Order: sequence, then structure tokens, then C-alpha cells
Amino acid sequence: MGIAENLSQVKDSIAEAAINAGRKAADVDLVAVSKVHTADTIREALVAGQRIFGENRVQEAQGKWPDLKKDFEGVQLHLIGSLQTNKAKDAVELFDVIETVDRPKLARALAKEMEKQGKSLDVYLQINTGEEDQKGGCLPAQADDFIKLCRDELNLSIKGLMCIPPANEEPSMHFAFLRELSKRHNLPCLSMGMSGDFETAIRFGATSVRVGTAVFGTRPKKL
Ligand SMILES: *Cc1c(COP(=O)(O)O)cnc(C)c1O
Repeated sequence: MGIAENLSQVKDSIAEAAINAGRKAADVDLVAVSKVHTADTIREALVAGQRIFGENRVQEAQGKWPDLKKDFEGVQLHLIGSLQTNKAKDAVELFDVIETVDRPKLARALAKEMEKQGKSLDVYLQINTGEEDQKGGCLPAQADDFIKLCRDELNLSIKGLMCIPPANEEPSMHFAFLRELSKRHNLPCLSMGMSGDFETAIRFGATSVRVGTAVFGTRPKKL
């Protein structure tokens, strides 16, 4: 099946999950995760009308997106992979939304860089709900303080919270936790759910789902 058909199927599933949850289809954005895929593949999705994309590496995105952004209007590019502080400048230059703000040092670097570049990108704060060592994200116990720091001291434009539940766990409790945390801080958006669990995430209030495989097919091992 082609990418246009995949997109339309994923959007139908999003709409159905939203309606089943008593929500509107338009309340859930689809972030098409194009990491590892070539610019030509991404073009197919752009031609089909998709405009919100997720990439997980700054350098890889720098190789693909400046040209794509020139050719297609209204692209919104999300960084969904962990960000090193020394890449903050590049990330602020290229991306429109950063979903992986997860520690004070990075939050400060981004705030400084945005000020320098005269930009105010929307950000999500990533929470490591499964407390996994290998995964990015602020630990739940530090989340309240981190949210306050980002909002009150650094004046970041926080859209909401993001999480990636542990691969082998039932994701519902993680989604529920993220929703409660966002409510407590009055944050409007929740980025959660991937190809395997976006319907569940929508049931738990996701406003944005990050879907790669179901849109672009299985990722090639190498570019
Ligand atoms: C790769 C990735 C996705 C997409 O995963 P699929 O299972 O291919 O839909 C979503 N979120 C993040 C953070 C990712 O790195």
C-alpha cells in the first residue's frame, strides 16, 4: 500500500478512536514520524497533504528538511528524539516544536537560544513515566519542579507533556499518569501514542499521536 493510503487509514483510525472516546477527530493531530526515511519518501506524504512531521535526530533532519520546507508550505517539524545541549542552536533553527525537553540544562540552553534567534518555539516536556535508565525524560518525582522551572523561570512556551511508555508494558497507566500530571499543571496538550498504541492513547486524552510505521511502513535499517 502507498503512503497516501496509509495516511488516510491512520487518519480514519484516529478519527474513530477520538469519536469512541467522546472527542472530536480534529482534536487529535497526527505527527508523521519520518526518521530514517528518505526525502523522496517524505515527499509522498507531503504531496498527500500531511504537514506535521517528527524526526528524532537533528543532523539527519538537517540533511532532509531545509529543501522540503522550501518546497512545501506550512510544514510543522517536531523534534521527538533526545537533544544534546550543544545541538540546541541547530534544533531551534530547524524545528518548529521540540517535544523532548527533559532537563534543566537543556531547558536553559533552549531558552537562551530562542532568545538569541528571536523565536519562541512550542515545546513539550518529556516525562520518563517508566523511569527507564536508557530513556530520556524527566523523572516523575521531579516533574512538578521541572514544569515550574520551564514555565515560570525560563518562560518557555509549554504546549504540554510527552511520554514514551516502556516497550513491553501495558501503556494505559503511563498515559493516565501523563494526563493527570498535565491536568494538575493546566497544560493543554499530550503527545503520546505510536503505531501500536495510538488508539489507547487517544482514549486517555492524547492530543497528538506520533506515528511512523503505520504511515511509512517498516523502517529500513540504514538510509
Ligand atoms: C520512532 C518513534 C515513534 C514512531 O514509532 P512507530 O512505532 O514507528 O509508530 C514515535 N515516537 C518516538 C519518540 C519515536 O522515536
